[in-house]
Amino acid sequence: MQANQSSPMHPFGDSFSRRSFLRQVSCGLGAALAMPRFSAMAGPDPYAGQEMPAAAAIGAFPPDRKLGIALVGLGGYSEGQLAPALQQTKLCRLAGIVTGTPEKASTWKTKYNIPDKNVYSYETFDQIANNPDIDIIYVVLPNALHAEYVIKAAQAGKHVICEKPLATSVEDCKRMIDACNQANKKLSVGYRLHFEPHNQEMMRLGQKEVFGPLKKIYADNGFRIGDPKQWRLNQALSGGGPLMDVGIYCVQGVIYTKGQNPVSVTAKFHEKTDLERFKEVEQGIDWQMQFADGTSADCKTSYAEGYGRLRAEAAKGWFELNPAYGYGGLKGETSRGPMDVPNVPQQAFQMDDFADCIINNKPTRVPGEMGMRDVEILYAIYRAAETGQKVRLGQAVNAVGNR
Ligand code: NAD
Repeated sequence: MQANQSSPMHPFGDSFSRRSFLRQVSCGLGAALAMPRFSAMAGPDPYAGQEMPAAAAIGAFPPDRKLGIALVGLGGYSEGQLAPALQQTKLCRLAGIVTGTPEKASTWKTKYNIPDKNVYSYETFDQIANNPDIDIIYVVLPNALHAEYVIKAAQAGKHVICEKPLATSVEDCKRMIDACNQANKKLSVGYRLHFEPHNQEMMRLGQKEVFGPLKKIYADNGFRIGDPKQWRLNQALSGGGPLMDVGIYCVQGVIYTKGQNPVSVTAKFHEKTDLERFKEVEQGIDWQMQFADGTSADCKTSYAEGYGRLRAEAAKGWFELNPAYGYGGLKGETSRGPMDVPNVPQQAFQMDDFADCIINNKPTRVPGEMGMRDVEILYAIYRAAETGQKVRLGQAVNAVGNR
């Protein structure tokens, strides 16, 4: 389901629209995807040998300008992954930053050559509305702050990428989606694995029933959490523990492998072995997702154990990723042998795909509605663990098609 229609005005203006249209007509999209890589790029090409987003693949004719992204929140993920990925993207670039820490602002300005006029604090955030350098705002804050800044970003007239989980309540997700719709701006979730070949192969094998109908899915994702003072362990800022943070990848993985939304969930919390560290959020949780056809998925997540697997067992064989959810080094096996797919710069692909959606006014494959569906499932899992009852899934889950 497509909720966010961007403005019919092309962000690069008419000249880009006409040129890209002529290019697509003359090359054909299939031909464009098979074209050699954009050779004018300096430095190593992250796309080497990879399939690119459509507009990037046509990058032998670069757009008039790359779309400008402003990162909001310069913590571990922005610093370690997103900013470096934005040095590799072809359709977008790091144009601005929003931070509450002046020292970070000065380091980032120098490192990434960001002009003063594109540096904002949380107090001056709303002034981004007047900045034509910024096309997309990427919200990379603690989970409970996502809603406020996504809504402000939409009201500032910008397209938005929001990190997972989309928000800490279904109601907030709804407000965020509505705000983007009202502003006629696109909203996507930072679900990088939809752009990752191993996970795409799980989607293909599962959804096309290459090994026959699925019988059982297993998904687990956990790690040992460090600093006991971090926001991830603070319920008000995180909205929950490992389920919100990394269990969400299992929910996603199960659904895109099955190609259907679940109809109900059951769950059980892990016993806490560190009561001080986990006084506000769960230490871990086991849950099951049930599908209408009787298939089920057994899942687990933890802040006290390390694992990361996605496995499907089908009538005529099995296929799995282990590790399944990291930024790189993913490995896939099937009952017929290893998966022969590459690791790619996931975040660069993800952000270029969103830029492509804006440039060509296409729906994103990871829309706000998908984020809302997942938040509904996450809180249904908590309710199931708290009550010991099976919880049936409702509206948000039905609002997005099977992906
Ligand atoms: P982090 O703790 O490293 O960074 C959080 C940033 O938010 C910091 O710069 C901090 O200064 C800022 N901040 C602003 N207001 C704050 C407040 N009131 N309390 C605490 N910090 C505040 O966290 P992170 O790992 O970068 O995670 C940020 C978001 O990105 C989360 O939603 C997380 O789920 C998501 N994330 C996604 C991935 C992924 O693979 N897609 C990976 C890591 C994190």
